[in-house]
Amino acid sequence: MAEAPVILWFRQDLRLSDNPALAAAAKSGRPVVPLYILDEETPGDWAPGGAARWWLHHSLEALGESLAARGAPLVLMRGRAEDILPRLAKRLGAGAVYWNRCYEPHAVARDTALKAALKSDGLEAESFNASLLFEPWAVATKADKPFSVFTPFWKACLAHEAPPRPLAAPRALKPLAKAPRGERLSAWRLLPRKPDWAQGFAAHWTPGEAGAKARLTSFLGAALADYAEARDRPGGETTSRLSPHLHWGEIGPRQVWQAMEMQGLSDGRTRAGKTAAKFLSELGWREFSYHLLFHFPGLPEANFRAAFDAFPWRRDAKALRAWQAGRTGYPIVDAGMRELWSTGWMHNRVRMIVASFLTKHLLIDWREGAQWFWDTLVDADLASNSASWQWVAGCGADAAPYFRIFNPVLQGEKFDPAGAYVRRWVPELAGLPDAALHKPWTAGEAVLRAAGVALGRTYPKPMVEHAAARTRALEAFGTIKG
Ligand code: FAD
Repeated sequence: MAEAPVILWFRQDLRLSDNPALAAAAKSGRPVVPLYILDEETPGDWAPGGAARWWLHHSLEALGESLAARGAPLVLMRGRAEDILPRLAKRLGAGAVYWNRCYEPHAVARDTALKAALKSDGLEAESFNASLLFEPWAVATKADKPFSVFTPFWKACLAHEAPPRPLAAPRALKPLAKAPRGERLSAWRLLPRKPDWAQGFAAHWTPGEAGAKARLTSFLGAALADYAEARDRPGGETTSRLSPHLHWGEIGPRQVWQAMEMQGLSDGRTRAGKTAAKFLSELGWREFSYHLLFHFPGLPEANFRAAFDAFPWRRDAKALRAWQAGRTGYPIVDAGMRELWSTGWMHNRVRMIVASFLTKHLLIDWREGAQWFWDTLVDADLASNSASWQWVAGCGADAAPYFRIFNPVLQGEKFDPAGAYVRRWVPELAGLPDAALHKPWTAGEAVLRAAGVALGRTYPKPMVEHAAARTRALEAFGTIKG
């Protein structure tokens, strides 16, 4: 069976470098059949939302080109992996199926069953770690329990044996003489049409491994040095914007870790070392989210803190639509929601502000917000999205206390003091002076007129009044506090 091919099943690891499953397949010396399966049949499986499908299309295109250049073209198939893989393995006389692990509950269940089924068919079925620095089961509390607080979690990670060095991309792959015919990417209709609401995305993103590397390089050269101080300011390129690349596995966290080591990570006394450690700790939040999702698989649907099951969320479709459309009357909130719609991404500080606004000012269930993000973010990630929404809403692990209610005006003034962010995404307010930009309803008639703003017509009045909304939220919280 020396020439029995290896099927390499790509999932959220759409890269050639530091891809342990691919490296193992290449090392085996056997022909490699790279495969991607689009499952649109399994219900309730958090299939990629609209913006994520846009990204996936372009990422698969890039991966296909890289694989073809190495001799083994990517095969695309549609259906349930549990059906396709055993059938394809049989048809090709494959000896092995390799993949890199996913940690979403449905993926864990599917992959466990699949591994057993393939093994019972006499195949080698092997999974690897490509997407995390530390496997969710590799770190535990002293009582051998999963962590639910970030700081000790990350401390335990840093005390753990360092992640292995990233692997090089295989130079060439041995193709199968008669490779299976797959589907055409265009037939999958991953890109939106009529209307093409993703039109603007391409100006912001280059999906694929080369795009991910370029993004990291430009971040290292431009923004990393000031990251610790500037990362909360949404008005410029203050963060790495690596999140969609990391989500799709176009770059792996071990590669980012290595880049931080080269920036002097190990020397905690220098400014560069401290900055690298700060940046890495943000990746730590990603690791923590995966740790939580793996150990608490109900995280995307159920309140981590069960007391919130009785929380009196409001159903208000009109208010939800105003939030989604960026028409709440609070400029920093509206800027964030419009950035999301136009680019498929939103700055972290603003994600916190808009999520707080939805769950606290509007008292709308965090799951409504998480669902909207799921559909509109190019980096929509079940672990990070679920953990972060629960964190902001106050019902999550290590969550911000519920009574900490962001004041959207003060947040705007603090983190967007010169108004670059709001002016970019809410251009109808661009002419307002800084002093009124984050609270246009306080500006006098003459100021509004000079800026071309007619409140209630060119820009909405605030849909709720902050102090009243805050009181209402605290009262709602009071009902479950005991
Ligand atoms: P950087 O600041 O450059 O950080 C580097 C990397 O660290 C990021 O790419 C990301 O992988 C990770 N990271 C940073 N902050 C966090 C965090 N708080 N939690 C988890 N990982 C983090 N992130 C997603 O990747 N997908 C999501 O679906 C998602 N949903 C979110 C929903 C809400 C309500 C909030 C408040 C945050 C959410 N985040 C999500 C986390 C965070 O906002 C993004 O990861 C970050 O804004 C991405 O920008 P960046 O790559 O420039 O981050």
